[in-house]
Amino acid sequence: MDASVYPVPSVAAVRIGDEIHALAAEIYPICRSITGAGVRETLRLLGRHIDLEQHAVPTGTRVFDWRIPREWTIRDAFIRSADGRRVLDFKASNLHVVNYSMPIRRYISTVDLKRHVFTLPDQPDLIPYRTSYYEPDWGFCMSQRALDAMTDDTYEICIDSELADGHLTYGEYVHAGETEREFLLTAHICHPSLANDNCSGLALLTLLARNLVARRTRHTYRFLFAPGTIGSLAWLAANEERVPLVDHGLVVSCVGDAGGPTYKQSRRGNALIDRAMAHLVSHLPPNGKAIPFSPYGYDERQFCSPGFDMPVGLLQNSAFGTFPEYHTSADDLDFIRPEHLERSYRLIMDAIEIVETDRRPVNLLPKGEPQLGRRGLYSKLGGSGPGAAMPMLWVLNLSDGAHSLLDMAERSGLHYRLILDAADVLEAEGLLSSGE
Ligand code: ZN
Repeated sequence: MDASVYPVPSVAAVRIGDEIHALAAEIYPICRSITGAGVRETLRLLGRHIDLEQHAVPTGTRVFDWRIPREWTIRDAFIRSADGRRVLDFKASNLHVVNYSMPIRRYISTVDLKRHVFTLPDQPDLIPYRTSYYEPDWGFCMSQRALDAMTDDTYEICIDSELADGHLTYGEYVHAGETEREFLLTAHICHPSLANDNCSGLALLTLLARNLVARRTRHTYRFLFAPGTIGSLAWLAANEERVPLVDHGLVVSCVGDAGGPTYKQSRRGNALIDRAMAHLVSHLPPNGKAIPFSPYGYDERQFCSPGFDMPVGLLQNSAFGTFPEYHTSADDLDFIRPEHLERSYRLIMDAIEIVETDRRPVNLLPKGEPQLGRRGLYSKLGGSGPGAAMPMLWVLNLSDGAHSLLDMAERSGLHYRLILDAADVLEAEGLLSSGE
């Protein structure tokens, strides 16, 4: 067996990719922001699959150095030419409005309007995604081509939005395990119609949570769907006493494109989740890689701030900002594919497998090698070639009570699953005690 090749997906696993894509497609059209109806509607749709609890934090609530902002509502927006034609229409794409724009309705000279219009001159057919959460402002986003086609001297503009006291909403789902030790899985829910960033992460984690329901686990699994930055801060502010219970965590975003996978380590760099993910992505050639922590990115910035320093890393396929579709209208449902979503799903499931099963077994016959052939152990691991016995030989050799299964996988270069299977067989045969 070539240990560098990832195990072939099962039929059931192929189907999960389609399922994740379908759920991502369902939430894709919604105009989300850090607050407002879009987040609640998204949580409602995700809540059809899991018993998702919605938490509402009122405007003005202090969360560390931040305050929950006013709630943003958007109904319509357009730029209209003198002949009555909408040259920009929010109903065609919710990226057309700078997210969190203040309301405005007036006639404006094209020269003045252009100061509030964002385009991508190098990608002239794409609409950029822009926000203005904490600076009161307004603006439009459009393709460079559409802007170039605007030849009138004045236009009528309208952003039918509202900023009013309300709530920030986040969703939480807990799968209770045998212990209170937690695995936190989280995805940001604040982007409008962008598929990879982050309908992919929201849909994947929702269906993963659903599939965990039937499974007994040692850890408690907490799923958090919160608006970027302010949402994770709101959760942290309300759950400070839970932070020490979190042994492992993953921020999940951009998990549907063909790149990567890319795992960004937690600030600690050597947490079990860091080692587990680095191991797993190293078995996904040619592009799987682990990169060191940096204080820029998604919500790992908050979880890994020095006052918390949680063991929380970031899983992505292509790293944010490195793909040309990033934060543009090209990040659509064609950009994410079921097979990539499925690979990401399996990767997280494998990480869960590691934290659930990792242990330090002890070889009960450590003097010399036990006679494997007499016990029929070669055939139990389903192989006869010279490589087939390697997982067993590594496990027997390193089962001194000091090495964990993950240590063995790292040292042998064999996929954790092969090491785990070998350990299970050897334990069943009475050659190994399971250790701790
Ligand atoms: Zn983003």
